[in-house]
Amino acid sequence: MADYDVAIVGAGIVGSLLASKLAPHARVLLLDRDVAGLPGSTGHAPGFVGQVNSIPALSEVARRSVALYTSTPGGFATAGGMEVALASPDPDVARAALADAAGLPHRLLSGAEARALAPTFVDERALAAVYFPTDGLANAKAIAKYGQDAARAAGATLLDADVSGISKNPDGYRIESSQGSFSVRHVVVATGVWGGQLVPSLQATAVSVAHPYGYSTKHATRSTLQPFVRWPGAHVYARDHGPRDGVGSYDHETVHYALQRVGGLDSAYGDWESRIAPAFNRALSLLPPKTAATFRSYRTPARGDVHAVAAGSVPYAFNGLFTVTPDALPLSGALDVPGPTGLWCAVGVWVTSAGGVTGVLADQILEALGKKEVDGVDAHLRKAFDPRRFDGRDDKELETAALGKYNDIYNKAEQKSRL
Ligand SMILES: Cc1cc2nc3c(=O)[nH]c(=O)nc-3n(C[C@H](O)[C@H](O)[C@H](O)COP(=O)(O)OP(=O)(O)OC[C@H]3O[C@@H](n4cnc5c(N)ncnc54)[C@H](O)[C@@H]3O)c2cc1C
Repeated sequence: MADYDVAIVGAGIVGSLLASKLAPHARVLLLDRDVAGLPGSTGHAPGFVGQVNSIPALSEVARRSVALYTSTPGGFATAGGMEVALASPDPDVARAALADAAGLPHRLLSGAEARALAPTFVDERALAAVYFPTDGLANAKAIAKYGQDAARAAGATLLDADVSGISKNPDGYRIESSQGSFSVRHVVVATGVWGGQLVPSLQATAVSVAHPYGYSTKHATRSTLQPFVRWPGAHVYARDHGPRDGVGSYDHETVHYALQRVGGLDSAYGDWESRIAPAFNRALSLLPPKTAATFRSYRTPARGDVHAVAAGSVPYAFNGLFTVTPDALPLSGALDVPGPTGLWCAVGVWVTSAGGVTGVLADQILEALGKKEVDGVDAHLRKAFDPRRFDGRDDKELETAALGKYNDIYNKAEQKSRL
């Protein structure tokens, strides 16, 4: 008999939430090299959650995520979010139409109104904005820890272990790890940027990239949390983190972290490098000068020093790694034909999507275990996220498509084709 019904490899926000949903119904083993440390992307995700998306499936799971995170203690601040237009006519304002289609509240703002709502980030260069009051800021670490605690309380085993291999055996699958081997009926690979390490077929579709994000000097926390701000035309975004402000940018050539490089890292921090630094500097120029000054002379700590620098008060920037996919949709579902045993994955899942995507996947696995009948519910989402949807396509073409998505993170190409 198998030791566990389901083993989940990777305890970031995705693996931890999935474990919390499965543990009340099945014998679950959640493994990570460092369960509590959250060394993956989750550990340094700034948590912007925008629910409007030109891809309806992404809007749908984002809404479900917000519902879940809002009910998670310390998980979500409904600060609102806005997209600021710097040029006229700016196609970004057309996103109001997408919000309408998704039934999400929104308001068009003048530049002055946008400034009044987010004075730290918006200045007189803003011509207009669209404001989404139900968007907000997720605390990805708190949500992952909450998922881990809930899984543990429901009887799951959480184990610090490095998984080195997954192979078929008569019970289903055998997992080899630094803490021994386990026989399980189902395995879920939720290893973030390391997805292709355990499942080579994911290498072309789950593609790791570098991304610059930085924090200002520490300051007194403001009495009101300001909405997050995106400048979609400039590929820049910023938020109020309480004691610091934060800025990120997609406005640079995509920097691919191939598996050979990611495989050597024990956290999802890359090295600060010349291909991302200019974009970060340009991003600062969008901020009001007084705010930009709080980022200037930022440090770029070596990977091992980021946490120590973060504990101090100087501004700093880092290269965070995450996964892009050829169509911007997650890769979540069965990698083989699901039955009484199965190999599954959940990678390329943003914090914005994780709550919703793990709910869909948990139902699929419980159905395969014979513990739940779902009767076609979410069939469209299962199909949209099916990791086998690219089978038969050329690997190089898929990798190129995924890398191209980095510079279209707001899916504006898709948006234009839908409007
Ligand atoms: C700078 C930055 C900004 C971002 N901004 C946003 C944002 O604003 N909004 C948003 O929605 N998303 C954002 N993201 C993306 C988001 O953080 C990720 O998509 C999400 O955290 C992925 O979660 P995960 O659980 O899949 O992966 P991870 O958090 O990476 O977890 C994977 C886990 O697997 C473990 N693991 C890997 N291999 C093994 C193995 N062989 N054995 C055992 N354990 C293993 C790792 O230790 C790790 O803990 C951002 C990411 C970064 C880096």
